[in-house]
Amino acid sequence: MALLTIVAPFLNERDSALEFATFAKRLGAEVKKLHDLDLELVLVDDGSTDDSIKIYREKLDGQWRIVELSRNFGKEIALFAGIEESRGDYVMMVDADLQHPYDVCMELISTLLADDDLDVVYSIRDDRHKQSMKKAIAGSFFYWMINSKQRFIIPENAGDFRIMRRPAVDALLRVRDRRRFNKGLYAWTGFRQKGIYYTPDVRSAGATKWSRLALVALSLEGITSFSAIPLRFVSLFGFVIGILGMLYGLEIIISTLIFGADVPGFPSIMSAVSVLGGLNLALLGLLGEYVWVAVSEAKDRPLYIVRRLHKSDAKG
Ligand code: UDP
Ligand code: MG
Repeated sequence: MALLTIVAPFLNERDSALEFATFAKRLGAEVKKLHDLDLELVLVDDGSTDDSIKIYREKLDGQWRIVELSRNFGKEIALFAGIEESRGDYVMMVDADLQHPYDVCMELISTLLADDDLDVVYSIRDDRHKQSMKKAIAGSFFYWMINSKQRFIIPENAGDFRIMRRPAVDALLRVRDRRRFNKGLYAWTGFRQKGIYYTPDVRSAGATKWSRLALVALSLEGITSFSAIPLRFVSLFGFVIGILGMLYGLEIIISTLIFGADVPGFPSIMSAVSVLGGLNLALLGLLGEYVWVAVSEAKDRPLYIVRRLHKSDAKG
């Protein structure tokens, strides 16, 4: 019988652990009945400081494993650890906070199984009507930047909530980026992918772990791992400023030599110095971002450290 792995990372989700166990049990029963699939659960404890693990151990049913990481590594890495532990012919990733509706999970599964030619079915968050104008524009600009001139397109608002066949899973495991921008990596690996729109449920308990600052950091991750546009833009800008500076110099020389005009010294020097100084600093900072990414990758540390692996008693 084919095996479906559900990978779910969690960080301090004790309050929804019981509900998650119920969700998984229901799903397991239904995929067996409808699609003749076995289910295995792979949860990843991403450095929880509460007793979530204990509750999951008590409440989970069937075949499950919990990869307990040695500390918080962030959701992207936690997902990777979970995928590495998965053995299924199909792998579906869901959030432990139950924001991914049961019916959409079933839809992802049946859409993939219905079409032999599909390798991945991903979900697209359909909350555009709720988004502010400012956020929508920032989002479009971000996707434009990371997508321009790429050989692959990163779909807007497509998240980790998806199901993949084993070849696509193995491809993802071969990408050893330490600084992982998952959305980009999914697109980078290619394969036949199909998107499905859905509206996320509200969290069953607790609060989101993403602060605004964390989101900015993630976007920066996306830009530095998938786009050289900022660098090219600054180079171009520097080039244009340089040409303008030369023209201005020429104008000064000509007007002094031919017309004998007085050149206003202090203001022109000050503005040139501050414009160029500011641009230089900005470029240095930008270069620094890319260098920092290069340094992190070069250090060759493992992606994550496992503290313990918890297993169900059942086979597997
Ligand atoms: N999560 C995690 N590690 C982190 C942050 C979050 O494993 O460092 C888990 C979290 O427990 C949840 C999922 O990732 O199951 C999604 O996180 P969250 O609900 O905070 O994000 P949102 O749904 O608001 O985008
Ligand atoms: Mg959530």
